[in-house]
Amino acid sequence: MKKMSIKKDDTVIVLSGKDKGKKGKVISVMPKDGKVVVEKINMVSRHQKPRKQGEEGGIIKKEAPIYASKLMRVCPKCDKPTRPAHKMLADGKKVRVCKKCGAEI
Ligand SMILES: [Zn+2]
Repeated sequence: MKKMSIKKDDTVIVLSGKDKGKKGKVISVMPKDGKVVVEKINMVSRHQKPRKQGEEGGIIKKEAPIYASKLMRVCPKCDKPTRPAHKMLADGKKVRVCKKCGAEI
């Protein structure tokens, strides 16, 4: 299983595809598929059939999973896309920091 750098509740920016440049919050991750679901990103329309007689069918919009490789994390501090860098603290603890502003992310 490939390790994913993107986690639930991260803010990400889309690097390619029809939603390029859009930002959103990660709703769920699917590490097995290397995909994530991002709020308001990669929306697809699904036709809903009427369930009951007399009920109208409709189109519902829903987020479809998108490959994590098409996304980049956005630093919550400086709001810039970044790949987190690993920083070793004095006590040997490793933290992830933003390469742009140095904030722990
Ligand atoms: Zn930053």
